Parts: sequence; C-alpha cells; structure tokens
Amino acid sequence: MSAATDITTGARQGDSPAPKGFAARRTFAIISHPDAGKTTLTEKLLLAGGAINMAGAVKARGENRRARSDWMEIEQSRGISVTSSVMTFEREGITFNLLDTPGHSDFSEDTYRTLTAVDSAIMVVDVAKGIESQTRKLFEICRLRDIPIITFANKVDREGRNAFEVMDEVEEALQLSVSPQVWPVGMGSDFHGCYDLFTNEYLYSSLRAGGPCDSVKQMTGIDDPALDAMVPEHVLTRFREEAELAREGYAPFDADAYRQGHLTPVVFGSALRDFSVDQLLRIVARFAPPPRSQPSDKGPVDPRTNAVSAFVFKVQANMDPNHRDRVAFVRFCSGHFKRGMKLNHVRSGKPLAVNNPIYFFAQERDLAEEAFAGDVIGIPNHGTLRVGDTLTEGETFRFTGLPSFAPEVMRRVRLEDTMRMKQLRRALEDLAEEGLVQVFKPVIGSNWIVGVVGPLQLDVLASRIKQEYKTDIGFEPVPFSTARWISSPDEKKLKTFIDENKMSVAEDRDGRPVFLPKGDWELRYARERNPDLRFDETRELV
Ligand code: GDP
Repeated sequence: MSAATDITTGARQGDSPAPKGFAARRTFAIISHPDAGKTTLTEKLLLAGGAINMAGAVKARGENRRARSDWMEIEQSRGISVTSSVMTFEREGITFNLLDTPGHSDFSEDTYRTLTAVDSAIMVVDVAKGIESQTRKLFEICRLRDIPIITFANKVDREGRNAFEVMDEVEEALQLSVSPQVWPVGMGSDFHGCYDLFTNEYLYSSLRAGGPCDSVKQMTGIDDPALDAMVPEHVLTRFREEAELAREGYAPFDADAYRQGHLTPVVFGSALRDFSVDQLLRIVARFAPPPRSQPSDKGPVDPRTNAVSAFVFKVQANMDPNHRDRVAFVRFCSGHFKRGMKLNHVRSGKPLAVNNPIYFFAQERDLAEEAFAGDVIGIPNHGTLRVGDTLTEGETFRFTGLPSFAPEVMRRVRLEDTMRMKQLRRALEDLAEEGLVQVFKPVIGSNWIVGVVGPLQLDVLASRIKQEYKTDIGFEPVPFSTARWISSPDEKKLKTFIDENKMSVAEDRDGRPVFLPKGDWELRYARERNPDLRFDETRELV
C-alpha cells in the first residue's frame, strides 16, 4: 500500500484529516479456535501497524514466547495462550487497541470480560476447517453484546475448502450476511495471490507463486490484462469467474449492516505469508466502530461525555516476577484522561490518583500521559482495583454487565505444607482477584473450596501458586457441583436457609452467601422449597 494512502478513509493524502480523540480509536479483539492463526495474525497486524519490527515477537509456542508471558510456564509447555493482554499501536492517525483473548474454552469467563471491553472483533477461520466449536462460542458472546465482526479466512495458501464453501459456512453457521472483500487468486497449490475487490489491488509475491506477499499492483479491474501476464491461465480464468460470482452472489458491503452485526465482511488471506493483513487493518480503521456507549446504572454513557469514566475488565497479578505488581486493565468509556488525575473509585467511595498508568505497546510498557474513550491502560495497584470496578470523574455511577459466572468444577484445596497457610491465603486472594478462580470459604470446615469454569484452570492455578508463591497444593473432590449466590428481600428467610443448610453454604470472597448444591436436583428442590430466595447463577461484579 502506498504510504500516501490515508488508512481511515482509503483516500489519498490531503483529502481529509484523520479523526482525533475517541473517534480515532479502534478497540478490538481477535477470536478464533486454537490453531486457526490468531497469534500469527496478531504478530502481522503489529508489524503492519509498525508496532514491532521483527517477525517472531509474538510467538505462541517455543522459547520465543513474548517476554511478558514468560512467567507462565504452563502457557509455554501447553502451547496455548491463557491470559488476555492489550497491545496498542498507531498507524496514520488511528490508535488500535488490540485485546488478546485466550483461545482455550476453559477461559471463557476471562474472554467474556475482555469482550466487554472491545467495540469490534476479527474472527479468524482456518479455510480447511471452517467454523470450529470455540469460534462459534466466542461468536455467540459477540452477538450477545452486538459486537460487529470482520471475518479473516486464513491459510489460503493451504489446501482447504473452496472459497464459496467457506463463505456459505460462515453465512449458515452464524446466520450473518457475508460480503466478500478480498478474494484468493487460486488456493492451496494453485495459490498465487489475493485480490481486493474494492480497491482492485492485486497482492502477490515477487519471489515465487505462493511466497510471502511483498508486492501490490493496482489493477483497473479483474479483467485487467496485466493479470494475464502474472497468473497462469487456468488459475486466472477460475478466479475471474469466482470473483464475478462472488460480487453478484453475496451481499454488497454495507457499513451500517456490518456495524449493527448483521453482516460480516470476509477477507481471504494468509497471516503466515502476509496476504491481506494490510487490507484487514484498513477495513478495521475505516469501518470498525469507534468507541460506543457503555451500559451503566445511570443509563448508557456516551463516549462524547466530557467527564472521564472507565471500568476494570481484568486484573493480572505478578506480571513481572521481579516486582510483585498487580495491574488492573482499565477501559476508558468517556472523557479525556490525563496522567495524575484523581478519579472516584466508586466501589470504595475513595478518590484514586492515577499517577503511573501504563500503555502496553507490543513489546514495551510506557507511561500513558493521556487516554480517550476506547483506550486501555494498566493501573498498577496493590489490590485496590478489582474486575468490575468503575472509575469516574465527578458524578459517580457504575458500569454494568460484567458478570461473574457460576463455576462448573469445584475442588477443595489441599495444602501440602501447613506452614504455608499465609502464602496460600494470599495466593488465592490474588488469583481470585484476577478472575482465574472463585474462592469460597465454607461456613463449616476450614479448607477453601475453589470453583472454576473448566478443569484446565485448576492446573494453571496449582502451577502459578507453586511458581509465584512457592507453595504446593493439591485438589480433593467435593460433593458440590456448582455454586449459586443466594439473596432475599427477607433477611430472616435468608438466615433461616443458611442455618438449615450449614453444610452446603459458603461465603464468596466478598462475604456474600453462596449455596453449594450437590446436583441439579438439590438446587431445584431448594428453589421449590424457598420461593422467597434468589439463587443466582451469575452475579454482577461491583
Ligand atoms: P493460534 O493458536 O490461533 O494462535 O494459531 P497460530 O498463529 O499459532 O498458528 C497455528 C499454526 O498455523 C502455526 O503453525 C502457524 O505457522 C500456522 N499458520 C498460521 N497462519 C498460516 C497461514 O496463513 N498459512 C499456513 N500455511 N499456515 C499458517
């Protein structure tokens, strides 16, 4: 792409100034099934955005795993990405905040929360595999939150389904209109390049067919004779037929339909070989929505509101093993934040001076001097900030919609060395704070019970407690199958229930009562017997 092209409009230099402030923010996540190519695409987006200079900086596997995740041995040994983080980069007047979501299904809660902090998403699909289970789940979360999606159909250099099959599968599986943006010129062994159906740019490798993309040629259209000299006849003929059919057969691109979540633009490409990554970034810049209003208990908060507001969607402890820091990831929703500002920490009712906010550039951290709606920064703290917390300037209110899910796997924590009780308590507090586990203290008995959404989280928990708190733990089965937050407008009835069910009641880490049923039948029974009590599966984090 020419350096003179304005990424926000696709227009040539001098046409229109880039938007400033919140309107120039694109806060998005990449969702995919493991192995579809999310890490590779992330790395290539950062390269295209000029955030990193060298490929290999965001490797998912092997020794080159990004430094900031090095503390997580398990992440390396299993070769999966289990933490979310943020990567900020700028290109041509647009600030991109890319939030990393863990791909493994056991971390859906963390992913869900991360998706509360984005305005759009890129869905990566492997052309050979189509829509896989995890992609579908994540897509459902996006749909629930009306997050518009751009589809990146990856690995066109590999033998896969033909492009129409991929389009049709996305359309059918997700019940969305699909609109082709960039189409492959041959696939698998026939792969020669990609063609941007809107700009009529042909992307190819000057080295060899199927090599890494290093060249772009402006065509007059798919019939441009220049293509005949570059692509073998049988591949080109087929491409021209397909491109014609694709343009006619699918929905024309409609920015509003995309933003409302009814249509997904589809970009065929190869993250590994750099095909269509630039196109993808341009589409995000030009069409992906800028920060939208966020729900709160005082109604939606418009990003144009002058007063600063933000919420914490993630807390990460021990990011740097040398410093016992804890970082709260904060998404701004309105106003113009400046470093040193005093904000209201709504949950505690106390002011919070934000003196050392951090921006996370691809490989570095830097002090954030300012932030607009859509921006994500890290606030180092010693446990004051929790997931779900709201920060405001002036008027106080709370952002809503960050749920805590009922766990599906419950275990009692066994401490191998009882002298390390203090460390264990600290570890569970910290990691519950991060949202890795939920911790319950039974009314009767002394051992903590932990609840997780998926069993892999238990391995992560044990590994992190061993590594970061030098404490060995094991897990023992408990008869409980899940947890329900109990409440009632009638305090007396609640107390009676707790007294009568002491063996199955615990407190969560905020001291709220939780019922631990042994199975669905017991939960049903308790509900029937206690119509005045609420048994909540999720609770809003406040
Ligand atoms: P993630 O699990 O979704 O983060 O996937 P990765 O980015 O780690 O990619 C999984 C595998 O697919 C790796 O071996 C990548 O090198 C490979 N891969 C990613 N993109 C492409 C592509 O465009 N073409 C081919 N042939 N392989 C790719």
